[in-house]
This record gives sequence, structure tokens and C-alpha cells, in this order.
Amino acid sequence: MATLKFAVTPGFEVGGTMFKPEQLAVLGTVVGSDARIEMTTFKQLYVEMQEEQAEEAKAKLQQAGLALYPAGMYTKSLITCNFCKGAAEAGMSTAKALDEAVAGLAAPSPLKIGYSGCALATGEPLLKDIGVVKMRDAYDIYIGGDAKSLKAALGFLFLERVPEERLLPVVRGLIQYFQDHGKKKEKFSKFIERVTAETLREAVAG
Ligand code: SF4
Repeated sequence: MATLKFAVTPGFEVGGTMFKPEQLAVLGTVVGSDARIEMTTFKQLYVEMQEEQAEEAKAKLQQAGLALYPAGMYTKSLITCNFCKGAAEAGMSTAKALDEAVAGLAAPSPLKIGYSGCALATGEPLLKDIGVVKMRDAYDIYIGGDAKSLKAALGFLFLERVPEERLLPVVRGLIQYFQDHGKKKEKFSKFIERVTAETLREAVAG
């Protein structure tokens, strides 16, 4: 029988990516006993279940306050730190807006976007394709991080001290350029090498 795979996340709050007990209870009951539930490295659960029951299950998961995204060649939901400095200082509202703007978009290859609320960067943004670090009242943007393979690499500083009103347009612009010019299955780090960071800076300039 056909199966369908999709991603589930509770989103994030002060404290990190936290499932409520009742959300896990709903998840455990609506996906069916033969479903596979995978813990990914990017703070989403991947659920693979019988396709014919998936729409009903997805509706119940959303009713329980969970967010659902496509699995595979899409941007992932924002991978954040735990906002230990508090919602205001760590930029929770900006992170939520960024998540809404970037999660679940079709891309040439899966794209991970990280966010950390201060320079300690405990959300590991430099290991993401795009990493945002809040620096007091502005944001540093790193690109090209890649935690996979023996050629794993840290992201490099792409733009420094980006003002809040430019953050979403810049990150959306990077994704758009990747959507328009990336080759199928091309990793974002390879894409940057091919098109150059300078071209990307011009593409997202305000
Ligand atoms: S990056 Fe900063 S604000 Fe976020 S959890 Fe780490 S120390 Fe706290």
C-alpha cells in the first residue's frame, strides 16, 4: 500500500523545540501502528504512514498545534537555539517571522536555515546552509555551512550587521536565487562556490 512521508514540528519557544505531552499522544494515536516516525537531525520528526489515512491524521496533528511540512527537497523549518536570554533579547518574534517566511519552500536540494539569539550561537548556525546570528540589534548572516560528509565545512560571514528590516528579504533572496539558478540536487555550499558569494551579495542587495 502507498505511503506518504511528511515532517512534523511543534515550532520553537523559549526553551527550544518542545513537544507537549498531548501532542505526542495525538501523534502516537493518529498515524497508525505501522507508521514509521524518524527523529531527524534538523529538529523535525519525519512521519511515514499509509497514504489513504494521511489527510485525516494531518488535520488532527494540526488541530493539536503541530506544524506540518513536506519532506525532501524543501527548505526545513528554522533550526533555532533555545532562546535562553529570553524572547525579547534573543529575538523570538524575528525568528518566528523568519520561520514563516522560509519554511517548506521547494528547493534544488534540502536547505537548512539556522538561527541563534546571540554570539554564543548554541543553535550551531555555522553548520547550516544559511545561519543567522543576532548581534545586539542587528543580524550576522553566514552561508555555506555543511555538517555532512568528510568535507564538512563551517559557514562564512556573508553579511554583517544586517538591520532587522532587511533580514527576511536577504534570506528570502538567497533562497529565491537558489531556486532560480541551482541545479537539481546541487548542495547549497557547492552552489555558492559555483555562482560566488559576490554574485549572491549583488542578488540580495536592497
Ligand atoms: S545562542 Fe545565545 S540566546 Fe540562544 S540559547 Fe545559546 S546562549 Fe542562549
